[in-house]
Amino acid sequence: MSKQKVVIVTGGGRGIGAASAKLFAQNAYAVCINYKSNAESANALVQEIKAFGGECIAVQADVSKEDDVLRLFETVDRELGLVSVLVNNAGMLKQQMRLEDMSADRINSVLINNVTSYFLCCREAVKRMSTRRGGVGGVIVNVSSGAARSGSPNEYIDYAASKGAIDTLTKGLSLEVAAEGIRVNCVRPGLIYTDMHADGGEPERIERLKSNIPMQRGGLPEEVAEAIYWLASEKSSFATGAFVDLTGGL
Ligand code: NAP
Repeated sequence: MSKQKVVIVTGGGRGIGAASAKLFAQNAYAVCINYKSNAESANALVQEIKAFGGECIAVQADVSKEDDVLRLFETVDRELGLVSVLVNNAGMLKQQMRLEDMSADRINSVLINNVTSYFLCCREAVKRMSTRRGGVGGVIVNVSSGAARSGSPNEYIDYAASKGAIDTLTKGLSLEVAAEGIRVNCVRPGLIYTDMHADGGEPERIERLKSNIPMQRGGLPEEVAEAIYWLASEKSSFATGAFVDLTGGL
């Protein structure tokens, strides 16, 4: 069993999660890349990390499902060792539309996928990390969004609200476990170049909106990963309940 620090990155096969997984691996963490359905990208990243000598596994699990989350954490316990860092990153959005056209099924699926999943993964991480339960501490970094503050009108208020819930989760949990060796922090990216915008029906969304960004450009997944890594590292040892906005000033 490895003595390395261990990180779980949910939704780690693509986008911001993949950039984060790579950065942790480059810093000698053993990495668990969780994915939901795109095994090809997750496995390609495992190979890339192993090629530079990193320790890495990919685990399929739909983190909105309790049984899958239990299996994910048990697999990491067994194959990599005790989790030191959880990056709650897996998220999705649906076709852009106004609220008056949203079905209950759609709203529920966004909330379960983006909110219940973070709660379940936090629960399993806290059980393992908390000094109150015999653990040695750890760090949770939640990936929220600038949408929590903008509200995403005319696009996906359901998605924005799911990210508002992540901000509240970060605040509450950071205080609940602050004296138990666990720090809980959050990043709020703005418009970042990933596949996610295509899922809303507009792959070129950032091109439409980038003139509104004070820095006049979208962000890269690697620029978000750097903040996630810092919030998880000892360099931020006095930061908990902290929010880092990566929005180019938007
Ligand atoms: P992405 O490229 O679409 O990647 C999303 C990842 O999440 C994929 O790896 C996907 O797995 C995984 N995923 C989704 N639902 C899952 C589930 N139920 N169980 C396990 N994995 C699941 O998106 P991204 O832009 O990197 O997004 C990462 C995070 O950043 C999200 O929380 C998103 O809300 C947030 N964010 C993104 C932006 C942006 O502009 N891109 C801005 C603010 C916040 P598969 O690969 O298997 O499909």
